Amino acid sequence: MSRVPAAKHAACVALGANIGEPMRQIEEGFAALAALPETRLLARSSLYCSAPVGYADQPDFINAVAMIETALGPHELLAALLAVERAHGRVRDFPNAPRTLDLDIVLYGDLVLHEPGLTIPHARMLERAFVMVPLAEIAPDAQVPGRGRVSELAARLDADSVAQLQRMPA
Ligand code: ADP
Ligand code: MG
Repeated sequence: MSRVPAAKHAACVALGANIGEPMRQIEEGFAALAALPETRLLARSSLYCSAPVGYADQPDFINAVAMIETALGPHELLAALLAVERAHGRVRDFPNAPRTLDLDIVLYGDLVLHEPGLTIPHARMLERAFVMVPLAEIAPDAQVPGRGRVSELAARLDADSVAQLQRMPA
């Protein structure tokens, strides 16, 4: 009997790291996303550098955004991302603490979800240039449900607070 394939959803994941070897960890983050079950990596942004927010006495961050296509549901995807973070030695010390690898679900199709452990679209994405600028690089026409087009929302932020480190070869 043939198995009915699960519906695929386009989702965007923000990656961040600022201790250990941040660039390598972001690369490993992309590889881990590509290796998730029933998931394909559709696009990856350049790497960006940003100053820490919230708790300033820590190294700068390397940030990036990935677009994936996945048959994982939003909760399954979050569980998978948290497992990848743990596999990369992430320890949750305190809010905004330094991290070896942070993986956040930014968008999941046009889903809007407000639950104690999972908010989609990501609750703080619209104020974070280090999310919106890389997102606008790979998905300028994506819609943030109820808020508008990614490129227009990103243009409202201070683009100078993030520095593009490398462009991916075409
Ligand atoms: P942050 O990424 O905001 O610095 P953490 O990475 O420590 O914080 O995440 C803490 C918790 O945030 C996670 O355990 C998860 O349950 C919750 N969370 C809520 N919404 C999301 C989301 N869209 N993506 C990832 N985590 C989320
Ligand atoms: Mg996180």
